[in-house]
Amino acid sequence: MSAASPAAGLELIDIGANLAHESFHADFDAMLARARAAGVARIVVTGSSLDSARQAVELARRHRGFLYATAGLHPHHAAEWSDELAAQFGALARQPEVVSLGECGLDYFRNFATHEEQRRAFAAQLALAVAAGKPLFLHQRDAHGDFLAMLREHRAQLGAVVVHCFTDTREALHEYLALDCHIGITGWICDERRGTQLLEAVRDIPDQRLLIETDAPYLLPHNAPKELTRALHRRNEPALLPWVLRKIAQARGADEQALARLTAANARRFFGLP
Ligand SMILES: [Zn+2]
Repeated sequence: MSAASPAAGLELIDIGANLAHESFHADFDAMLARARAAGVARIVVTGSSLDSARQAVELARRHRGFLYATAGLHPHHAAEWSDELAAQFGALARQPEVVSLGECGLDYFRNFATHEEQRRAFAAQLALAVAAGKPLFLHQRDAHGDFLAMLREHRAQLGAVVVHCFTDTREALHEYLALDCHIGITGWICDERRGTQLLEAVRDIPDQRLLIETDAPYLLPHNAPKELTRALHRRNEPALLPWVLRKIAQARGADEQALARLTAANARRFFGLP
């Protein structure tokens, strides 16, 4: 495998980057410049709490045409859900910078909130996405059964849906595809140990349903050269998206340029981006 930087001239869209994260405060503009230099043409900034969603909208206003926002409450914070929060997310959902509701869903791996709290916040946000008529950006970890049941119940009323940072089994993948979901793939696939089953599953995703993301600052892609990731202090950022693309291209036996064009077109169609 070549250690050279993936082909120049790519045009990529990172559909999930947590750019409101405090680790980006000090070098935000330099980080964005590196993303552009790496061919990242659009970034959807993940809002996973009221505060980060508001920051994501603010960033999208300041970098119009480059950054876009999602607004939702991550299952880790589900205990905070309230009628007041629902009204605040409802207002955010109407902002033009917010191209998707979420991230929301279920996470029974960390269990920072009880399962019941998580299901309550998720159900309410499914209803918000239906009311807003916007796409949905979903998170699921170790909760496939409950998550699938809830998604299935609301699926007919929902528009476009992406299961972001997909890390589950091939069976789970096919159940999401059967519900007409898009699938977001992160640098998890680059992990020598955890990514093995994803290398197989990613081949099953139809061309039109595949989206790519960094989930920065998390999930540093391990196939990026050590000198590069050391220079970035081992923090993941959108400039590393080409390495996620490369691993997916290898797994699917696809051409990197073609896969870049395909996933960027999918992201534009999914979020309604110019
Ligand atoms: Zn997530």
